[in-house]
Amino acid sequence: MKSCLKCGKQFDENAIEDSDSAKYPSCNSCWKEWTTYAVIVINEMRLDMSLPEHRKALRKYERIFFGLEKGEEIKKNPEEGSNVN
Ligand SMILES: [Zn+2]
Repeated sequence: MKSCLKCGKQFDENAIEDSDSAKYPSCNSCWKEWTTYAVIVINEMRLDMSLPEHRKALRKYERIFFGLEKGEEIKKNPEEGSNVN
């Protein structure tokens, strides 16, 4: 048994559906919650998963979601001003 990093509940690590969730560790329901949230992040941030920098950005939100990093949960309108066309 392991404790979920997100909700704190105990879960059977042999019952996890996605092996990626083992790295936190996360229970199935919290991992599902993250994957749903990840889609929102990808859409809002317009992330392209083929780009390493964008994958890194998503990883940061993943860590924030699981409480490993402090930060804003989502940034809808990044005011960086560096991407002026
Ligand atoms: Zn959980």
